[in-house]
Amino acid sequence: MAAIAQVEPLTSTRALSGPFDYAIPEDLRASVRVGSLLRVPFGRQELLGVVVGLSDRSELDSERLRAPRAAVGAGVPADLVELADWIARAYCSTRARALTLVLPPGAGGGVGEQRRLVATLTAAGEGAIAGAQRVTPKQRELLERLARAGASSASALAVDHAALRRLEARGLIELVARAQRRAPEHTVVGVRGGTPELNPEQIAAVDALLEAMQTGGSRLLFGVTGSGKTEVYLQAAADALQRGRGVIVLVPEIGLTPQTVTRFVDRFGDTVALLHSGLSAGERHDEWLRLRRGEARICVGPRSAVFAPITDLGLIVIDEEHDASYKHEGDPRYDARAVAAHRAQQASALLLAGSATPRPESYARMPRLRLALRADRSALPAVEILDMRDARGVLHERTADALGELRRAHGKGIVLLNRRGWSNFLSCRHCGKVWGCPECDVALVLHQAQRTISCHHCGHREEVPARCDACGSASVARHGLGTERLEHELTAALGDEAFPVFRLDADVAVLKGRAAQVLARFDDAPAGLLIGTQMVAKGHDFAGISLGVVLDADATLRFPDFRSEERTFALIAQLAGRTGRGRTPGRVLVQTLTPDARAIVYAAVHDSEGFLVGELERRAALGYPPSGELIRVVCSSEVEGLALRMAHELRTRLAIPQAQVLGPAPLFRLRGRERAQLLVKAGERDAAVAAVGLAVGARLHRDVAVSVDVDPQ
Ligand SMILES: [Zn+2]
Ligand SMILES: [Zn+2]
Repeated sequence: MAAIAQVEPLTSTRALSGPFDYAIPEDLRASVRVGSLLRVPFGRQELLGVVVGLSDRSELDSERLRAPRAAVGAGVPADLVELADWIARAYCSTRARALTLVLPPGAGGGVGEQRRLVATLTAAGEGAIAGAQRVTPKQRELLERLARAGASSASALAVDHAALRRLEARGLIELVARAQRRAPEHTVVGVRGGTPELNPEQIAAVDALLEAMQTGGSRLLFGVTGSGKTEVYLQAAADALQRGRGVIVLVPEIGLTPQTVTRFVDRFGDTVALLHSGLSAGERHDEWLRLRRGEARICVGPRSAVFAPITDLGLIVIDEEHDASYKHEGDPRYDARAVAAHRAQQASALLLAGSATPRPESYARMPRLRLALRADRSALPAVEILDMRDARGVLHERTADALGELRRAHGKGIVLLNRRGWSNFLSCRHCGKVWGCPECDVALVLHQAQRTISCHHCGHREEVPARCDACGSASVARHGLGTERLEHELTAALGDEAFPVFRLDADVAVLKGRAAQVLARFDDAPAGLLIGTQMVAKGHDFAGISLGVVLDADATLRFPDFRSEERTFALIAQLAGRTGRGRTPGRVLVQTLTPDARAIVYAAVHDSEGFLVGELERRAALGYPPSGELIRVVCSSEVEGLALRMAHELRTRLAIPQAQVLGPAPLFRLRGRERAQLLVKAGERDAAVAAVGLAVGARLHRDVAVSVDVDPQ
């Protein structure tokens, strides 16, 4: 048994990176392994650390070696320690930060198992019932109930702990603390029922997957919306379980994809564990522990579920693989899709990514399984592009007509506008002042219900101004249109009891469970309108949607980003996919100022393949992924001019073979910090990441923070 534990202390300070050697005391030697969590003395403090290696000897003198204070919980599986190591390297982060991703929820924070006292009758207790000992009538009644019910908790017996303790002291009962699971609830949405019959395309896909699962690798399930991808996931998962292997199912955002969760729980029951941020700390801890102990073998959750402690992993599913939420925006800036690919490889598991609008890189790199037909054999809806260059109002007259018709026919529709709030910005009609964020160089957005104007980047908010503080004019203009105002206007024009108007955007979804509630109410309503941001085009399926409308389809196209076309295409295609299922024929209207844009034209004819082929050509010409690798380095500082100066300095240090460094380019000020970015375009990822890591690892300036984003979104 190893005498030395190599421990990585969990601290965010880059300078304190380990691992450091600790002498394992005799009594801990049998239990300490790679992945164990230890409390270790570190300088004058005590830190939580993860054992990343074991050894028989240390290079340090034995008298200088310190011993860990205690072991904490069951620790994490060794392969997750290895995974964290890979993440730290692949995303230019530290091992300590990467390890915090794989820890049990609440580790070190005092979240433990919830225990309750359970009483059982002893032989002496049975004697007391028979009259061998004197007890009060109340105690006798309690003992009798215990004899009938078997082991029971205080709450089940409806007595307090003190009463039980008195009986325990006399040896009449035994009290044992038992762990009690805190089980999460989820909103049930969508049709429930048994296993549906598969169509020939689905059968072929399932067969191919079962075969692929023998050897691992990856597959892209490229299926039009409504083609029954979830059923294919479910059958592949059932097969993995049958072979004794575990399953991870990643979904974009759990609040927006309650149907996928419902279907997995329905099919597999208690062997499904849910891991997501909507759970309480206790629930998360207990679900994690059920997976760690092997009591649950399927984990469903958003990107962080890729770290679920499942042994003998056989399958990782990434549903709606094009979704931007798979990218984590904190350090380490990992992409759950890349982590899943690495983890699947590590475990010889199968990676199964599914989407109707896959990313160009997945389309190019993964063997494809095609589902070209909708499971219910309905046709994809007709899409009409409406040129808004000559239109005057917010709605094209054909859109207004279609909405009126929908109301008269008691139908259901979805209207997508990718901008929340009431108005985009306020300006003074007299002097032209625009209300901006004091911390960021962006305009403040009006939120009427909260009576505030707020910054969508840092959260700064202030009261709605009654007059201009620069010139005193009371004439303040409101520009643009967001979902809040759209809801207000459409409710006024169309809404009533028989035709309710719902809204779903980030302002609604901040309340826990609200997004799922809105989706469930819209699902239940026989007629009505759902208005919202891109959230309304995510993973849920509703029956009976006959109209889909996209307002300002160019909003995402205007984004200065090489992925803006891919996003715009996905948004329109996904909304179209929610329209016209079952017996309801569908129709989609797309309002745009750029009716000739490639993303819009291809989406209108439902040609994913055509769009992807063109997009891959464009990216190859520009050296963008998957034809090249991108690494973004951002310098930021509160000191004026420093971020840009240091970005220039950093650029001189970046000598990367076969790579091009673009910039520095100034970015808009965010949270009171000026920013400047360098963009590295490289042919080979690992060498470029290592070179960037080296350059940013050396000290730059004490007032400058540097962040690295490999494969930025
Ligand atoms: Zn003014
Ligand atoms: Zn701000």
